[in-house]
Amino acid sequence: MKTLSLAKSLAYAISVAALLFTGVVAAQDAPSPSAGRPRVGFSIIKTGKVAVAERLLLPEGSLSKKIDTNFSAFLIKHNDDYLLFDTGLGANIEAQYARDMPYWARLAFKFDKPLLPARKQLEDAGYVPIQKVIISHGHWDHASGVPDFPEAQIFAAEEEMHSIAHPESGAATAWPSQVAAPETRWSPLVMQPVAYKGYAQSLDLFNDGSVVLVPMPGHTAGSIGMFVTVDSGKAYFFIGDVAWKKAAVAVGAAKFWAASVIVDRDREQTHRSVEQVRAVTQKYPDLVVVPAHDAAVQDALGYFPNWVR
Ligand SMILES: [Zn+2]
Repeated sequence: MKTLSLAKSLAYAISVAALLFTGVVAAQDAPSPSAGRPRVGFSIIKTGKVAVAERLLLPEGSLSKKIDTNFSAFLIKHNDDYLLFDTGLGANIEAQYARDMPYWARLAFKFDKPLLPARKQLEDAGYVPIQKVIISHGHWDHASGVPDFPEAQIFAAEEEMHSIAHPESGAATAWPSQVAAPETRWSPLVMQPVAYKGYAQSLDLFNDGSVVLVPMPGHTAGSIGMFVTVDSGKAYFFIGDVAWKKAAVAVGAAKFWAASVIVDRDREQTHRSVEQVRAVTQKYPDLVVVPAHDAAVQDALGYFPNWVR
């Protein structure tokens, strides 16, 4: 893990992220915006799924009923710039799992035979390599595709990068097979003291309010969420793993308690982050909450190459 060059990255941390996401990026070899693509929009790249007991996802859910949960990457388009929020299951998920998933956790955390990884789906659709990947947090089902994007700068909250560099034991930690490659170019995201939709801190990636990150600590130290306001004016809130189902936010209880014990680093803080999401949805009733794994929400929005615009 020492090879992560965290110290090097942190040295030029402050505001680097914000700069990278402004004008400069237009010079890169991003695909010209083809007709049919939105100015600001997103597309959900489904890379895998698994059916789990509803109770695991919803505190009041059924123990016998199984529902699908997705492993997805989210492609965000802003003018000529493209970025990926989370990676879903990557090209080497099976080898990563064999190497790094603790044996005791394998019954609880699994996946069906993976679909095509995000990298492959993007390539097949003619997209040039993505230059920016942001992970909501460092867990295996979000960072699996990090090694698939060697051209990209990989962004995570600075608090998350610290825990990636100093992993704790257990299932709920970043995996060396995904995050420790010395060639991976990490960049910390530094939240700014700018209030946004009730959050005290935020990071406006393009300085126009259309793609804004906010801290959502608890599930991991540096979990982040992302607001995207698309061409239609509709706003979407990607909440990572703070809650696994949209319905769980509404009742203010994010996960079945036993699951929360395993996966949430700080349950109290996670609860506060859920309450904050709930407060935002009450204040902005038109906001669409998109949990990283909620298949029902994602089915309704459609999948890559379709755009939500
Ligand atoms: Zn997850």
